[in-house]
Amino acid sequence: MENLIDIGLNLMHSSFRKDKEEIIEEAKKVGVNQFIITGTNVHSSQIAAEYASKYPGTLFSTSGVHPHDAKTCNGHTIHELEKTAKNKSVVAIGECGLDYNRNFSPQDIQRKWFEAQVELAETLNMPLFLHEREAHEDLFKILKKHDGISEKAVVHCFTGTKQEAQNYIDLGCYIGVTGWICDMKRGRGLQEAVSVIPPEKLMIETDAPFLIPKNFDKKPKKNRNEPKYLPHILETIATCMGLDAEELAVQVTKNTKEFFKI
Ligand SMILES: [Zn+2]
Repeated sequence: MENLIDIGLNLMHSSFRKDKEEIIEEAKKVGVNQFIITGTNVHSSQIAAEYASKYPGTLFSTSGVHPHDAKTCNGHTIHELEKTAKNKSVVAIGECGLDYNRNFSPQDIQRKWFEAQVELAETLNMPLFLHEREAHEDLFKILKKHDGISEKAVVHCFTGTKQEAQNYIDLGCYIGVTGWICDMKRGRGLQEAVSVIPPEKLMIETDAPFLIPKNFDKKPKKNRNEPKYLPHILETIATCMGLDAEELAVQVTKNTKEFFKI
C-alpha cells in the first residue's frame, strides 16, 4: 500500500519501553513509514522531541499539554512548550484541547490552557493537534475566535457525531480517525460520521498503544495497539466511506505531508 503516516503514536508510553525500534520496523514492513509521536505534557513533549530527532524524516513529534494535565500548567508551561517546539522534529502544538468526558482538570482551567496553546501555535505559525471529547461546543467556540487557525488544526481521534464532524469541516479543520471506527459497537457513530469528511480533510492514526482495532479476523495475541495496524484502519475507513482504499491512502498521505510540512 501507499506510504502511510501515523499522525498519533504514543511511542513514549511505558508499554513501548522495550521495543520502540522493533515497533517502527514492523510498521515499515507494511508501508507505514512516518510517525508523529504525541506529546501530552511538558516532560513527555521534551522526551518525544529528543527521541524523534534521532530519526529525522521518519519520526516527528508534537509539543503540548493534554487537557487532563491542564491543572499542572503554570507560568512556565508555555515557555517550556515553545522551547521544545523549536526542535526540528516538532511539527505541531498539541495535543491540546478539551476533555469533558472525565474532567481530570476543571473545565475552566482546561479552557484557559487550551487557549494559551492556540495562541502559541499562532505565534509560532505551527499546526495544532487537537484533542476533544464531549466538549465540542466549547472547543468550537474557542477555535472560532482565532481567525485562520482552523485550517491549520487537526481534530485527532475524532469520536463525535456526524453533525460535529460537519461543524469542524465547515470551520476548516482536518479530522484524524483512529481504529475506534473498527469497533462494531461503540464505533457505529463514527462509521456514519466519516461520510461527511471530504477525503482531502482526512488523516489517519493508531493512537497506539491504545484503541486496538476490534474487527480483526484473527485477534492479535497482544492486546496492545501498534502502528503496523494502520493499513487495517485505513481499509475500514475506506469501506465506511465507500471509497477505494489505495486512492484514499494517496490522498490522506498528501494531506498529512502538506499539513505538517514533512
Ligand atoms: Zn488525544
